[in-house]
Amino acid sequence: MDEQLIRTIVEQVLSQMQPTKPTQAPPGKIPIAVSARHVHLSEEHVKLLFGENYTLTSKAPLSQPNQFASQEQVTLVGPKAALHQVRVLGPARSLSQVEISMTDARTLGIDAPLRYSGDTSDSAPITLIGPKGSLYLKEGCIIAAAHIHMNEQDAKALHVVDGQFVNVQTCSVRPLVFQQVKVRVSSRFQLEMHIDTDEGNAAHIQGNGYGELVTAGVHKAPAELPPQQVQQLVPPKQTAVMTKKLITEQDIKELRQQELVIKKRTMMTALAQDMARKKGITIVRQ
Ligand SMILES: [Zn+2]
Repeated sequence: MDEQLIRTIVEQVLSQMQPTKPTQAPPGKIPIAVSARHVHLSEEHVKLLFGENYTLTSKAPLSQPNQFASQEQVTLVGPKAALHQVRVLGPARSLSQVEISMTDARTLGIDAPLRYSGDTSDSAPITLIGPKGSLYLKEGCIIAAAHIHMNEQDAKALHVVDGQFVNVQTCSVRPLVFQQVKVRVSSRFQLEMHIDTDEGNAAHIQGNGYGELVTAGVHKAPAELPPQQVQQLVPPKQTAVMTKKLITEQDIKELRQQELVIKKRTMMTALAQDMARKKGITIVRQ
């Protein structure tokens, strides 16, 4: 090909590329990030694939504190095909784990289970190839189940608890309700829902989007997931009504609902107000 033609093609391709801007979620909405296939590696496996004394180098920070997309990439190999240039995320972890979409699993020809990060026992085997070596993982390849990271303040504001399963409606051109999304609460987390590329494509979300909690629906774990992952299930938001003139701490303590409707003139003790705040109960005066 002559040089002028190559230059023209490069210019045409570059003009098609548009910088992807992260979508800012409006207040009260949940930012959604689409996670492309990626790999977490143990220190030992970093050495095996990239060489002795090798450490992962950051290419770009990720939304969760201290996590980064590294410069390093590997090739994933299954019985049917290979996927090249798969990003390694850092820093190194105690266990190696490969997270792919169901489409990837079909391409590779492997039967990866739907799991939460860290739960790799009995998951699919996979081969990884790096510049300095290869590695056969007997288990460690999963399809990551959708989840939401958040800190305690977010959890309080959204009336959810750690381990709860919620439904999230995407605010996208192809709106979709994701059911059985697991809430993960930690002071280290930043509010963000993580879905994979298949889920992102289904909802027409590329890179970043946002959604909102929908309270309708039964919050229960996906049937495919082992029972130990089902914890602290909370019933859908319900409203209690109290007509008495004085609400005490004990009244709030016994309350199982997340919303309490009281009369305009009803008094609440300071302790009762504290307890309501602690339990994340919304008081509505009518
Ligand atoms: Zn995540």
